[in-house]
Amino acid sequence: MRKEVVVAAAAVTVGAAAVGMAVFLKHWKQQRERRLRQAKRILRKFANDCATPVAKLWNIADDLASKMESGLSSEESMLGMLVSYVAPLPTGEEKGIYYGINLRGTNFLMIRGSLGGKNLPISELQREEVAIPSTAMDGDSTKELFDLIAVELAKFISVHSEIDGKAESRERKLGFTVSFPVEEDARSSGTAIKWRSLSVNDIVGKELTNDINRALEKHGIDLWVFALANDTTGDLAGAIYYSKENVASITLGMGTDVGYVESAEQVPKWHGQSPNSGEMIINMQWGNFSSSHLSFTEFDASLDAESSNPGSRMFEKLISGMYLGEIVRRVLLKMAQETALFGEWVPPKLATPYLLRSPDMAAMHQDTSEDFEVVDEKLKEIFEINYSTPMAREIVAEVCDVVAERGARLVGAGIVGIVKKLGRIANKKSVVTIEGGLYEHYRVFRNYLHSSVWEVLGNDHSDNVIIENCHGGSGAGSIFLAASQTYNAGS
Ligand code: ADP
Ligand code: MG
Repeated sequence: MRKEVVVAAAAVTVGAAAVGMAVFLKHWKQQRERRLRQAKRILRKFANDCATPVAKLWNIADDLASKMESGLSSEESMLGMLVSYVAPLPTGEEKGIYYGINLRGTNFLMIRGSLGGKNLPISELQREEVAIPSTAMDGDSTKELFDLIAVELAKFISVHSEIDGKAESRERKLGFTVSFPVEEDARSSGTAIKWRSLSVNDIVGKELTNDINRALEKHGIDLWVFALANDTTGDLAGAIYYSKENVASITLGMGTDVGYVESAEQVPKWHGQSPNSGEMIINMQWGNFSSSHLSFTEFDASLDAESSNPGSRMFEKLISGMYLGEIVRRVLLKMAQETALFGEWVPPKLATPYLLRSPDMAAMHQDTSEDFEVVDEKLKEIFEINYSTPMAREIVAEVCDVVAERGARLVGAGIVGIVKKLGRIANKKSVVTIEGGLYEHYRVFRNYLHSSVWEVLGNDHSDNVIIENCHGGSGAGSIFLAASQTYNAGS
């Protein structure tokens, strides 16, 4: 009897618990669905704000083209539009072994290669990267840095001199290119600021060239630097070596930059000697482009406001490798805070700026596994988010898609703007080369970029613009600058 009562009571308790559990589960499920809907709402709004229909891309292209034009007569252009090279451009006839230096923010690349004319790729390419101690980049003096470069270069040359044989010549030039540092720590160093804008008639550039040559001489190196150029100028020289249809080179890595070929008579602000070819290379700092047609979301605005250079390099902040992952992180943080996308607690690491880098973003974006296993792995690895639902992961991948698609399509609009400025859309073939890790390694980004150019130009004109990867990889442009200078100076 007693036993039965106990059993009955237990049954009631279990029953009540089960009912309670069911209610709880139902409630929990509803809440989860509500939150997921909220997250999706944020995603939809963000995607909407980032939309880049063709009409908008045309507006951006037109605006860039007109700002390029006005920048060629003004010293104050947001695009810089610096005359960065007036020496003869390579012809594709230059042959032989050449050396180059590509100075980056925190390291420099020594490079050597053999050119065999425009029908052959660069061969015997050797490259060696040397880290620059931070003390060498601090302050105003470049003496320590140039001594380091000279010492390392002497070693590099001696290693390869046997292969070079007797090709050595007193006339030989060394191509020297400088990459713009975008890393936060390199950006503020005295040297980086000095080298931010290299133009041919710039006194700072000339002094630096003299300093480098003095260091080379002191260390007994039989090469000399003709002029400093930024690396995009070098890339373009390399592209022109292979084909005269190459009109522009774009750097698309951490940061972004453009070099393009302009006819000298289109450059009213140039008062120097006119180059024989009638053409010069203009460095356009399109990372600094801004336009009322670019729409900035709340995430872009906060990224900019909290950056080390608020209000500047707005285009770069939408398209370059340094920022894409950071935009994604900001969107995910908002979702975590407002919709508990990753659980009740906002994962603390999600609040750390610049923790998400574009290679990881690309990996999540390009995850084709059914349950987004790569996303899951990356969330664990980067943000210590140990549990995420497949739905949440899918949203993460979609945020990456929106950010990458917008960035890539804006680059496409920029390319159309350049070709338009040159008046080549309708009737001439133009090749644009792109160098940089973002373009080379982020497949979906690259596809979006290509298809946006086709879409904007339409069937009639899309065949006129060809986009290619640059020759020889990062830094190789210095070799082509060396080649064109040596060859032309000697002839
Ligand atoms: P930079 O010369 O500007 O430092 P690189 O041209 O070497 O840059 O490219 C490096 C940048 O390219 C990285 O900062 C990153 O943003 C991007 N990147 C490299 N690999 C990938 C990848 N697999 N997916 C997406 N982006 C990548
Ligand atoms: Mg690079």
